[in-house]
Amino acid sequence: MIEATTPQALIEHRKILTGSVGFVPTMGALHEGHIALIKRSVAENDHTIVSIFVNPTQFLPGEDLDAYPRKVEADRKICQLAGVDTLFLPTADAIYTRDEPALKAPAVKGYILEGYHRPGHFDGVLQIVLKLLNITRPTRAYFGKKDAQQLYLIQNMVKNLYIDTKIVPCEIVRESDGLALSSRNIYLSDEERKRALLLSKALKRATRRIIEGERDCETIKKEMLDILSPTEVEYVEIVDRDFNLIEEVAIDNSIILVAAKVGKTRLIDNMWV
Ligand code: AMP
Repeated sequence: MIEATTPQALIEHRKILTGSVGFVPTMGALHEGHIALIKRSVAENDHTIVSIFVNPTQFLPGEDLDAYPRKVEADRKICQLAGVDTLFLPTADAIYTRDEPALKAPAVKGYILEGYHRPGHFDGVLQIVLKLLNITRPTRAYFGKKDAQQLYLIQNMVKNLYIDTKIVPCEIVRESDGLALSSRNIYLSDEERKRALLLSKALKRATRRIIEGERDCETIKKEMLDILSPTEVEYVEIVDRDFNLIEEVAIDNSIILVAAKVGKTRLIDNMWV
């Protein structure tokens, strides 16, 4: 496995790669969710590049940038074992300059839901993803449905900025009890982890109600909020696959989303129905 720590080094290395290139951007502290993306990329491409970069521009003041888990040694081993060809580990100074053009997330869909509760978050996400796509020029880039709004905004950017990469959405990986894997789960105490399970429980209940025939979003959201009451809910919402808020669930075109704090830890989860 080759490692690069500067954009210039990776750009040079990329020039000699022939065949298809898969790219998996991450913030590290890799878990089975990340590993599923990496394995898929390894299976589908001649080369796989993984980046690990805790991107400061997507954290708001007061968020957990400094405390965000960093486990580079373990991550390196995981990548090696998963068959990654190239690991990109840039520093913020290597990838950002003091004065540079900045991307702005779409005014509506970049500023609702996650973007409403974390204003500017998606500006930073799109800025770094665009840089990473330009540096790695991948045939395919792999993103988890766990970050559904992020996935939508990246697909929207790739389409509207005519970026020649196929975005591959990957299923959410969960613990056997339903908890969606997240690097932030390590913040949870035993008691908090039990409460964190309410997010997937509420989503499962919503899905079951939809299977039973319920279509009214207000009814479904109310039932979810009841289940989620021991947590500090930021939003429960149902959107179509283009992130328009909807009043009636349309099968195969809806996403149920939840964001809630459990103790100090902010968790998100969703279900595609
Ligand atoms: P992160 O390191 O949190 O920025 O995540 C890097 C990529 O892994 C993103 O595309 C996430 O959506 C994806 N990801 C994170 N957790 C999961 C999960 N539980 N299942 C599937 N993909 C995930």
